[in-house]
Amino acid sequence: MIAENLKQIEENIQKACQNAGRKREEVTLIAVSKTKPVSMLSEAYGCGIRNFGENKVQEICQKREELPGDINWHMIGHLQRNKVKYIIQDVALIHSVDTYRLAEEINIQAKKSKRIVPILIEVNIASEETKFGIPAEEAAQLAEEISKLDALRIKGLMAIAPYVENPENNRHYFRKIRELSVDIARQNIDNVTMGVLSMGMTNDYTTAIEEGATIVRVGTGIFGARLKINY
Ligand SMILES: *Cc1c(COP(=O)(O)O)cnc(C)c1O
Repeated sequence: MIAENLKQIEENIQKACQNAGRKREEVTLIAVSKTKPVSMLSEAYGCGIRNFGENKVQEICQKREELPGDINWHMIGHLQRNKVKYIIQDVALIHSVDTYRLAEEINIQAKKSKRIVPILIEVNIASEETKFGIPAEEAAQLAEEISKLDALRIKGLMAIAPYVENPENNRHYFRKIRELSVDIARQNIDNVTMGVLSMGMTNDYTTAIEEGATIVRVGTGIFGARLKINY
C-alpha cells in the first residue's frame, strides 16, 4: 500500500511541478509518520524516503533508535522548550518556531551541542485560534529578533492551512505565505534566508507546489488515516 501511495504522490508532485514550470528537485516530500509504527516507516524508507516528519519529541527519539542513521528527522509539531534538548543533536529542520522564547532555548541547546540549527518560522496563515504560529503581520519582526541568535539559521516559513475538501480554497493562503517570504527576504536580515516554504498536506500539496512550496508534508496520503486527530 505504501509503495503504491508513494508512486501516486510522486506522479502528482511531478505534474504539479510541470504545471508551475518548476523543477522536481525544488520540492522535497516529507513523509509525516506521527502515530505510525516503525514497520511502516521502514517500508517507506525502503521506497527511498529519507525525510520523515513527527510532531512529538518522544516519537522522534524512539523511532530514530530503530531506523537507519541517514534519515532526516523533521520536527513539525508544537515544541515545548523543556524538550528541545532531546532532539537538538540530530533534528534536520525545526518547522515550528513561533516565539522568541522557544528560539532562545533552541539557541542555548544548539550551542551546547556545537550545532548550527536550521529553523522555519511557523505562520498562522488563516488566523485560526486552534493553531500555533505567529500572525503573518508579526512574522518579519520575529525573524529579525531571532536572527540575532547566532546558533540558529532561519531558512524560511512553515504554514498549516485550514482543512478543506477542495484545495483551491487554500490557494490564496499559500500565495500569501509566498508573498510574505518574498517581503521578508527583501529586508536582507543577516542569517535569514527564505528559500524554504513548508506548506501543503495530503489534501492540498499539489496546490501548494503550484504556489511555491519547497517542502510538502504528507501523512495520510502515504500511511493511511490516523486513529486520532493529531496535529
Ligand atoms: C499531521 C500533519 C501533517 C500531515 O497531515 P496529512 O493531512 O495526514 O497529510 C502535516 N503537517 C503537520 C504540521 C501535521 O501535524
